[in-house]
Amino acid sequence: MSRSEEIKLRRRKAYAAKKRHAHEKVGEISCVRCGCTDDRFLQINHKEGGGGKELRRMNGGDRMINEILAGRRKVDDLELTCAPCNAIHHFERVYGLQAWIIKWCPTEDRISL
Ligand SMILES: [Zn+2]
Repeated sequence: MSRSEEIKLRRRKAYAAKKRHAHEKVGEISCVRCGCTDDRFLQINHKEGGGGKELRRMNGGDRMINEILAGRRKVDDLELTCAPCNAIHHFERVYGLQAWIIKWCPTEDRISL
């Protein structure tokens, strides 16, 4: 592994750890909808919407994570969802559709955990 790849990997691991700490402040490490427990796929979801607006105001998710970790951003309006459930939450809220069912059912032949 080259020096630049090592640095990239170290940064990626540090960011993943920081993101996990922020997720732990939001709630149990699990999608509130489907039960996905793989933190790689979990995202902070704004229960009542407005996440895109907040991310734009904060110039990205990293700053929101920093605010959560510093205790300056309250978390009672947030929850953890996996990326598919987060997208579906958006469609339900914006379009009023309830047409999807997401099921978290990892098995070793389908996913490497
Ligand atoms: Zn989910």
